[in-house]
Amino acid sequence: MASAPSKFESFRREDAGYEAARRATCRNAHLPDRYPDIIVQAATEADVVAAVRLAKTNNWKVGVRSGGHSWSCNHVREGGMLLDISRLNAVSVDPQAMRATAGPGCRGNELDDLLAKQELFFPVGHCHGVGLGGFLLQGGFGWCSRVLGMACESVLQIDYVDADGELRHASPEENADMYWAARGAGPGFCGIVTKFHLRLYPRPAVIGARLATYSADKFEEVIRWARDVGPNVPDSVELMFVISRCIPGIDGPGVLLIAAVFADSLEQAHHDLAFLETRPGRAEFVSPFEQMALATLTKETMAHYPEDHRHIVDNMWTHASADELLPALHGILETLPPAPAHFIWVNWMPKLRRPEMAFSLEDDVYIAMYGLWAKDADETRISQWVRDGLARLSPHSTGIQLADENLARRQAPFMSEANRDRLERIRSEQDPERRFHTYGRLAG
Ligand SMILES: Cc1cc2nc3c(=O)[nH]c(=O)nc-3n(C[C@H](O)[C@H](O)[C@H](O)COP(=O)(O)OP(=O)(O)OC[C@H]3O[C@@H](n4cnc5c(N)ncnc54)[C@H](O)[C@@H]3O)c2cc1C
Repeated sequence: MASAPSKFESFRREDAGYEAARRATCRNAHLPDRYPDIIVQAATEADVVAAVRLAKTNNWKVGVRSGGHSWSCNHVREGGMLLDISRLNAVSVDPQAMRATAGPGCRGNELDDLLAKQELFFPVGHCHGVGLGGFLLQGGFGWCSRVLGMACESVLQIDYVDADGELRHASPEENADMYWAARGAGPGFCGIVTKFHLRLYPRPAVIGARLATYSADKFEEVIRWARDVGPNVPDSVELMFVISRCIPGIDGPGVLLIAAVFADSLEQAHHDLAFLETRPGRAEFVSPFEQMALATLTKETMAHYPEDHRHIVDNMWTHASADELLPALHGILETLPPAPAHFIWVNWMPKLRRPEMAFSLEDDVYIAMYGLWAKDADETRISQWVRDGLARLSPHSTGIQLADENLARRQAPFMSEANRDRLERIRSEQDPERRFHTYGRLAG
């Protein structure tokens, strides 16, 4: 067995720092019971090349971690190598060309901080800390994505290390299959992206939101309204509900309506939010439109995803009617555990024609359940809430998002069948020895 190159940090199971290194790769405090043989912390592309060659020599499978925000900790597998590339986080911005390059370990909010200073924009994710690596590979539901498209549509090229440990480049002209796969394959990508080449946009002149809160007895009315107005909500507006037991001013379960807008002017923002005037009355609280930095909007969202909690998450797309969905949704609401557990309803209504890419499954409405708990004793109850909720909703599901995937526990479609077949053909050509792990299973 060849030994690990000494220039990068690595930990074997018996090493003192092993458990800390394994733990550090996961944002989810619910660590899986899976133990790689070796954890390698790469800091450069050359390290990634050397690590993949080492894995090949030892016939190890490789799991890759960028920002560690996979809810399912997909990168942590039993045996083989866990390659932590979070240190590949350099960013360079070319404002004239409206282009940037970013390492996969760069966090969306870090990229946005840099871009905000130059009045530039990229559709980064809605929460702090999400790594660009996993976010872009699975598609990327970013702020303003209803206008700009999935974040992966703004990936122009990638640099990646292939299964033989060669550094390569992919674009529409070169290694086009891998470029296709890098936009939507998520944890099924059969290479390691070391750099993304990104298209940038002018920063929307006005970013802000209106909020409203409703007590649980208005839930049905709110959902019926959302299903009615959904198709006509302007693309500049992201309309979503968070349903939780910690909605300010509400005792018990409640609904937080968030309507975020990305507009060219204040006038447009008000115009695009005008549909809110048709919302159900008797809200507990309604905010006026408030302009805010994207970082503030992101911070508000984070309140529902505290760092130190354990999570089990699952999700689905649907185009079912309110009548079809409400019986299942009522069941989920009635059994809603204490906060921070919650579920969300997102009015997605895709209208854009997507380019040819692996990402290929979406629908009108996105529903996701976030089971969060702090104490071991709550695990069974809260996991059961997520499991039962998705079981109730599943007859109306058309598939899932990889962003909140739970494939180790529940299989569901996440791309079109044709794209799944194409991806498997690419994997057979590019990674015949199956060096890289693919979509999660409970073990291995
Ligand atoms: C609090 C929170 C908020 C979120 N908000 C959003 C959101 O607004 N929009 C959205 O779309 N998603 C969101 N997500 C989901 C998130 O985008 C995915 O979990 C994504 O996979 C995280 O990327 P990561 O690099 O941080 O995760 P990681 O756990 O490091 O990576 C996830 C998987 O992607 C693969 N992978 C990662 N990097 C590479 C690479 N460089 N090369 C090859 N394969 C790689 C690996 O298989 C890995 O297991 C959120 C997640 C959390 C925890």
